[in-house]
Amino acid sequence: MQDLHNKIDLEFDQQHVWHPYTSTLNPLPCYPVESAQGVYLKLEDGRELIDGMSSWWSTIHGYNHPALNEAATKQLEKMSHVMFGGITHQPAVELCRKLVDMTPEPLQHVFLADSGSVAVEVSLKMALQYWHARGERKPKFLTVKHGYHGDTFAAMSVTDPENSMHSLYKGFLPEHIFAQSPECGFYNEWQEEDIEDFKDKLAEHQSEVAAVIIEPIVQGAGGMRIYHPTFLKRVRELCDEYGILLIADEIATGFGRTGKLFACEHAGVSPDIMCVGKALTGGYMTLSATLTTKHVADTVCGGEAGCFMHGPTFMGNPLACAVANASLTVLQQGDWQQQVSNIEAQLAETLPEIGKLEKVKDVRWLGAIGVVELFEPVNMAEIQKAFVDSGVWIRPFGTLVYIMPPFIIKPQELSKLTSAILRTLQ
Ligand code: PMP
Repeated sequence: MQDLHNKIDLEFDQQHVWHPYTSTLNPLPCYPVESAQGVYLKLEDGRELIDGMSSWWSTIHGYNHPALNEAATKQLEKMSHVMFGGITHQPAVELCRKLVDMTPEPLQHVFLADSGSVAVEVSLKMALQYWHARGERKPKFLTVKHGYHGDTFAAMSVTDPENSMHSLYKGFLPEHIFAQSPECGFYNEWQEEDIEDFKDKLAEHQSEVAAVIIEPIVQGAGGMRIYHPTFLKRVRELCDEYGILLIADEIATGFGRTGKLFACEHAGVSPDIMCVGKALTGGYMTLSATLTTKHVADTVCGGEAGCFMHGPTFMGNPLACAVANASLTVLQQGDWQQQVSNIEAQLAETLPEIGKLEKVKDVRWLGAIGVVELFEPVNMAEIQKAFVDSGVWIRPFGTLVYIMPPFIIKPQELSKLTSAILRTLQ
């Protein structure tokens, strides 16, 4: 009797629950997950799937981690939420100290928010307020094609307008400047012409550009492209030359995913503003942060407004901050560098084999990220079913089949993921 009540009502789900990027007229099948442990998602029918997605880049330590569970439970007993206006608390202060310590040294001020998209909105607002405070009109942002920065309005406006997720909104968004995306791959020899279009666009628009916003090294949802560190290095140099702020969107790449704690480190670059989210709480809770330098923060606050104009209700949520603290401690005290480097080595060995398939256009990898790009888009429902039948959870989009597993994945589990890709594409 109790079991019946606990069963997920899939019919209700199909009729009333609107899932991301889905149609209410023709909803895609959804797989009912009952629980999750380590790298495994357990379906209601008892099948266990190896999670190749880390719940969209976030569950780096795996599910149901004892230290994260303990942090959440302990904090729950004290307070799950209090407003942050005029109140502060240990979980937030400890977290901000950790973030200041672990990010590049000039980043000294932390603004907490509740999702990656909002962290991006905050970063753009900071840049706009910075120039406003200096009495300069700089209403534009410069970014690169194939980027992705979130689904809210300002974030969409700096996401490639050709991106199918946002192209529909084109006429409703402020227009910003898009340079050609980096073409030179991470492992290729650097080609100086790769930066030419960016350089030209920056020179042409420098008087109106408030900031450059870019995903460092890995362009995620805009194409899973892994580019040469020198591109980012040049971007920093050019921003310095023209006195323009650099915003690094480390929401997907932050906290070890690319083999460095932050992807900016591949290029030895320190941004003026950095956004983090996703893995910040080990994927447990929704929390993000935007960090900036003393110079930017003090300039913003020295302006007409006298403060930074933003204040979300759930800012600094103590429960989320407590879990983030536990997650960062697990990361710092653990062996993530070795884990990610082992994953990278295994991907380097196995992906080229998949790359030989006729329908595969390209394979690429970096850290704990593996990408297979096809010539033709996949049939989502079909390929998803094939993966589930193989005991893995991989969610492709368009022509991209990609994995970014939890760092704790074992070699034989990673093999199961890559073998499932090989078999399914065959
Ligand atoms: N920036 C990047 C680089 C991202 O990958 C994402 C999420 N895919 C976001 C911003 C938006 O984050 P969220 O989904 O938490 O709003």
